[in-house]
Amino acid sequence: MLAFEDIRFAPALPDTHMQAAHDLPMGLLTKIPVEIDGAEGLGVAPWDDLLMERPARHDLYVLCRPFGWPLMVGFVGGDFAWEIEAAGEAAAVDFMTDRLEDMFGSAIRRRVRRSAMTNWARERTVRGAYAAARPGRAAARARLAEPLGDRVWFAGEALAGPLIQTAGGARLSGEAVAAAVAARLGAPSA
Ligand SMILES: Cc1cc2nc3c(=O)[nH]c(=O)nc-3n(C[C@H](O)[C@H](O)[C@H](O)COP(=O)(O)OP(=O)(O)OC[C@H]3O[C@@H](n4cnc5c(N)ncnc54)[C@H](O)[C@@H]3O)c2cc1C
Repeated sequence: MLAFEDIRFAPALPDTHMQAAHDLPMGLLTKIPVEIDGAEGLGVAPWDDLLMERPARHDLYVLCRPFGWPLMVGFVGGDFAWEIEAAGEAAAVDFMTDRLEDMFGSAIRRRVRRSAMTNWARERTVRGAYAAARPGRAAARARLAEPLGDRVWFAGEALAGPLIQTAGGARLSGEAVAAAVAARLGAPSA
C-alpha cells in the first residue's frame, strides 16, 4: 500500500521511507483447500505434510486433513501464486485436483466436493501475503521502522524483527509501537 502510494501523506513521506517500502515488496502464498469424500481412506494422517517436487514444473505442498477434517489443502507460492490467483479459482482447483490424481490415482477426481482458493493478491488493501526484502535490502526494515517527526509510526509483520512474515510478529510489532506512542504521549503503560 505504501509503495504504491495508495495512502496519501501530507507532507509526503520522505524518500528514505518510500525507498524502504519499495525495497519490501509483497510475496504471495496461495491456499487451495479441496474437500475429499472419504479422505480418511487416503492413507494419510491428520496434519501429514506432502511435498510434491516436480523437476522443471511447479511444486505443490499439501497439508493433509487438518483437525481430521476431510480436507486436503494445497499451497503454492512465489511467481506461480500470482499466476494462479490471476487465473482464478477454477484453474487453481484444477491444478490441485490434477496433482491429487498424480498422488492418489484417478478415482480421487470423483470424490472432490467443495473447494476454494485464497486471493490476497486481489484484495486491494492487502495485496499479497507478507513482505520479502529485495536481495541486499534487508536494512529497509529498520529504516521503515523509524518514526517520522514523532508523528508517524509504522508497524506490522514487515517490521517484526525475528518474527517477520507472521501474524504473531505483526501483533507484537503493533503492541510495541502502541506502547512507544503511549509513552510519547505520556500515557500510563498498560
Ligand atoms: C495464505 C496465507 C497464509 C499465511 N499463513 C500464516 C501462518 O500460518 N502463520 C503466520 O503467522 N502467518 C501467516 N500468514 C501471514 C500473516 O497473515 C501476515 O504476516 C499478517 O496478517 C500481517 O499482519 P499485518 O497486520 O502486518 O498486515 P495485514 O494483515 O495486511 O493488515 C493490514 C491492514 O491494513 C488495512 N489497510 C490497508 N490500507 C488501509 C487504509 N488506507 N486505511 C485503513 N486500513 C487499511 C488492510 O485492509 C489490512 O486489514 C499467512 C498469510 C497468507 C496470505
